[in-house]
Amino acid sequence: MTQAEYPTTDDLVTALRARGQRVTSQRLAVLRELRRRGGHVTAHAVYESVRAELPGTSSPTIYAVLELLSELGLARKLDLGLGSALYDARVEPHGHTVCRRCGAVADLDGGFDPDGAVAAARAGGFAAERVELVVAGVCASCAARRQ
Ligand SMILES: [Zn+2]
Ligand SMILES: [Zn+2]
Repeated sequence: MTQAEYPTTDDLVTALRARGQRVTSQRLAVLRELRRRGGHVTAHAVYESVRAELPGTSSPTIYAVLELLSELGLARKLDLGLGSALYDARVEPHGHTVCRRCGAVADLDGGFDPDGAVAAARAGGFAAERVELVVAGVCASCAARRQ
């Protein structure tokens, strides 16, 4: 695990009030769940946990809250080519390793220059929206299991 700093529910309350949006128990529960899990979860996993805490919460609500958190910069939506998007509670730029055998996703620090990549894309006239660094391969435990 990295020593990542995750946005807090106070950050969420501040961001929602700044936009005149309501602070709902679902919104708080989704953020808490992302923090608790420490990053890289599917919307479905968040849904299962939040529904256990707040029965009656629908899956579209969870998706909408996750989109809202991404918009507010309190979560990062990751498309790592795994079929479903993952949500990361760690919002500062960082790359990921993805194991193609077990699907494990881990944070990768260092050697990542998102601003440089965006600047290069812009120089080519490209309207950059997001940058993702993905190192694909086989994780240490899968590699060990092969032997
Ligand atoms: Zn693996
Ligand atoms: Zn991450």
